[in-house]
Amino acid sequence: MAVESQEYLTVASYPQLDQRCWFAAEPETIIMQPTTLCNVDCAYCYLPARSKKRDMTPDVSMAVASSIPDQWPSSGRLEIVWHGGEPLTIGPKGLAALLGPFEVLRRAERVRQVIQTNATLITDEWCDLFAEYDMAVGVSIDGPRAMNRLRVDRRGGEVFDRVIAGIEKLKEHGIPFTVIAVISQDTTGHAKEILDFIAGLGCPHLGLNMEEKEGANTHSRTPDFEQARRFWRDAFRWSRDHADMKVREIERLLEFLTLDRDERAADTKHDLIPTIGWDGDAVLLSPELLGAHAPRYGDFIAGNVLNDPLPVILKRGLELSYVREFQVGIGRCKATCDYFAFCQGSHAGNRFFEHGTFSATETEHCRTSTQALVLALHDIAHEEREVV
Ligand code: SF4
Repeated sequence: MAVESQEYLTVASYPQLDQRCWFAAEPETIIMQPTTLCNVDCAYCYLPARSKKRDMTPDVSMAVASSIPDQWPSSGRLEIVWHGGEPLTIGPKGLAALLGPFEVLRRAERVRQVIQTNATLITDEWCDLFAEYDMAVGVSIDGPRAMNRLRVDRRGGEVFDRVIAGIEKLKEHGIPFTVIAVISQDTTGHAKEILDFIAGLGCPHLGLNMEEKEGANTHSRTPDFEQARRFWRDAFRWSRDHADMKVREIERLLEFLTLDRDERAADTKHDLIPTIGWDGDAVLLSPELLGAHAPRYGDFIAGNVLNDPLPVILKRGLELSYVREFQVGIGRCKATCDYFAFCQGSHAGNRFFEHGTFSATETEHCRTSTQALVLALHDIAHEEREVV
């Protein structure tokens, strides 16, 4: 199932696994980091430059928007996700200037604007802007006050009340929002309280991220496998009685189980997920790689959108050593892991931050977010059979 050891592996070590391309020809998501700055200083944050203010200028967003080929997206809508540091620190006028170049595409329903925010800076003016650009809003909050203690400002003060005030503003303006919550060791025993609270905010969709060691977060309080399995068991039980709020991870697993045998065996093409930094630098595969220092991989920079169109950067990116190593890692996962059909190889960033190479396989993220999730559902099914 898991790799026997996570030694440093090169692409050349696995030529037999390097024959196929695991990547989609076009992205479904482009992540734009409009600023490095965040006004909050969460204990688990992965952003290394979050105390520095470096803002994106409209020439960068113009370069991205104007390089989206006519054939994209070939289906659905391309998501432009404004995320990291805290996008709202650049102010409504600053963000409007970055959104402007995408307007032709948005009005043609080819792109959808998405923003992920800590909600502490939301005002009436921001709500007007979200409505004007039809933005999908995601809020980061980890649960009720007691479960939210890792979300603090630079002086260590809790930001909980400011987040709630921001959510109230969204509700006043009738702007729907989803939530992403981080689960740490201390909160794994509180699934019901967390889920009750977030459902009570009026949120229809929740993503749950187990805390991970990545980027600047080198002291993670990652839940262990049994803590995570218990959390997911409690979350499954909760979800059974609360159809009005969808939990992303649970929905994904249940959807997978409805596939027929051939569909389950099919391999997914991974999105290269270009992430564009404030200065136009682009990294691929994981937004957490932007700003991370790794001379061996050229700091993961695949190009700069001010110099080259995005499709050129993506095509050239397939030859980068870290992208090729990830391809090797996916192939090794497929060859060795019982969870591959559901997981499809998961995230590149976790492999690098835990093992220093992308050709590694099993990570903490696998154990707590994939394997523990699947086994929790198995536990629940087992319990039900015993009751019957
Ligand atoms: S990334 Fe997925 S497929 Fe690979 S070892 Fe982890 S659980 Fe298995």
